[in-house]
Amino acid sequence: MPYSQLDDVILKLTDEVTVQVLNILLEKREIIDEDIVNILNEGLDQENQETEAPEENNIPRIALKEVRKSLYKLNERSLARYRRVRDKETGYFVYYWSPIWERIRDLIVSRRKQTIKKLKQRLDYEQRNLLYVCEEGHTPVTFSDAFEFGFLCTVCGQELAQKENAETIAILQTKITELKKILKTGLEEIEGIEERMEKAVNS
Ligand SMILES: [Zn+2]
Repeated sequence: MPYSQLDDVILKLTDEVTVQVLNILLEKREIIDEDIVNILNEGLDQENQETEAPEENNIPRIALKEVRKSLYKLNERSLARYRRVRDKETGYFVYYWSPIWERIRDLIVSRRKQTIKKLKQRLDYEQRNLLYVCEEGHTPVTFSDAFEFGFLCTVCGQELAQKENAETIAILQTKITELKKILKTGLEEIEGIEERMEKAVNS
């Protein structure tokens, strides 16, 4: 799947089939549920063929019901919308589904920013506080807590010693830089899709 950024963020909110459905919506711009099922099952058939496993070990095909459930889920979270058109011949309604760009973009940005903020808080804490820990590495505590506990571990009673947290700080700093980069490329990825969509609409 090309939209790696999405997978990661959306998976936290929903299940794998829904992520795949959303990816198809992003790719196809507008599509009916039956076509989504066909695309998913074509992929599964191919996978089953490639593994050459006996038929009973095949990955089961996805049912229309399941895809519809995913679409409703996305709709509930305002990540997808539909357009309803009555089929003149059958009299039934046909639902054309499409992704809601602004919401997807906002979701990615806010999630990533949240993670970065948490890491920064942790970094700030590590930088401000020298931590004390026992040899076993039980819950590290600040100087004032260590003082209060008489420099003894509250878990095992062993003596507490200053913990070298330079390594933790370096790891956190790297992680923050990485996430900032991911946030940036994720946005570029989404903007790229948006641009392509606009072009397709205007042409
Ligand atoms: Zn301990």
